[in-house]
Amino acid sequence: MYVLADCNNFYASCERVFNPSLNGKPIVVLSNNDGCVIARSNEAKVAGVKMGAPAFQIKELIQRYNIQVFSSNFILYGDMSRRVMSILASYTPVYEVYSIDECFLDLNGIDADMREYGLRMRTQVRRWTGIPLSVGVAPTKSLAKVANRIAKKFPELQGVHVIDSEEKRIKALRWLPIEDVWGIGRRYARKLRAMGVNTAYDFTQLPESMVRSLMTVVGWRLQRDLQGIPSIEMELPEKKDSIATTRSFDRDYNTFEDLHERIATFTMMSAEKLRRQQSLCRRMMLFVETNRFNEKEDFYSNSVLLKLPFPTSSSLELTQFAVNGLRKIYKENKHYKRAGVILMDFVDANLYQPSLFFNSNPKHKSLMEAIDKLNNKHGKMIVRLASQDELTHKMRRLHLSKAYTTNVDELIEITI
Ligand SMILES: [Mg+2]
Repeated sequence: MYVLADCNNFYASCERVFNPSLNGKPIVVLSNNDGCVIARSNEAKVAGVKMGAPAFQIKELIQRYNIQVFSSNFILYGDMSRRVMSILASYTPVYEVYSIDECFLDLNGIDADMREYGLRMRTQVRRWTGIPLSVGVAPTKSLAKVANRIAKKFPELQGVHVIDSEEKRIKALRWLPIEDVWGIGRRYARKLRAMGVNTAYDFTQLPESMVRSLMTVVGWRLQRDLQGIPSIEMELPEKKDSIATTRSFDRDYNTFEDLHERIATFTMMSAEKLRRQQSLCRRMMLFVETNRFNEKEDFYSNSVLLKLPFPTSSSLELTQFAVNGLRKIYKENKHYKRAGVILMDFVDANLYQPSLFFNSNPKHKSLMEAIDKLNNKHGKMIVRLASQDELTHKMRRLHLSKAYTTNVDELIEITI
């Protein structure tokens, strides 16, 4: 059997854990720069706030229903997610963290009453972190996803639903509209509806050849998975073969110093991920571009691919290379809107043999380890290059809650 464990309204729930007076009140969380709605509590959904709505458009709703607004506090959400996942990981050796608030667990070989096992998971996560969880259990991953939806939808199930018979499988699939099936995008849903396929069950009844020609082997695998034959494998953490950090800017940048700072920051962010997967990189690419919609200025975009003299994961060395690269593509008197750094061509840090002449500075290894440790413990970018600004200063976050779990100065205070 497979489990999909999914935190309910995760970002809103994280805010509530540290501020219980928010219980029962409508909450929304805004994207970076307080742009649009990326999470809603159930109450906010009822009040009519749509997912993705721009913040300025819902001003009136916010006032009318006294909706509590938060800037996204990803340090807090990331840390809470890590706590939830580490509890879930104690239930099986094989699990896949699917997103910040969702995790698949492979329970094959585990002998337990599945409903009880699910309830135990849910209670433990709730008690240890304060986060409400829904648990779907079924013979395949896509059915576990469906079971989870049912667990969320019907409160009488106490947050756990198990699909363990043909009868339950068919009932669940008949209930689920085709556009809500995991992996069926809006485009396919529209095509399927036009063919008279309205529910997940209808989809499982289509001839195999039709599904294959319409949706390739991916769709066919999904169809079999929904029929109860495990066909979608667990994705276990794999090393990436390139790491990119690219961003659009909140305003136009036109000086070399401005771009230098952004490129240094992007390189630091990528390098940290590179070290986390214990790789060294041998090539990097950077690009800059101006605003293609600015009619007053010709669009300029350029990139450079750098072959490094030695493989490295040191932020200091990579930043130096990146800045040299930037000099090659930077043009004066341009208004830049976007830039990015992509690291590639990796070798395993533990297997690499240093060369005779050119090598990464060996002292950087322990320095980087120390920096990563500090940044992990005290929040992103607490230790950074002199050429970097603090990342968060670049973001508009007027409604930010505290870093309750990662900053000693922001711990919750209890007055007796
Ligand atoms: Mg969720």
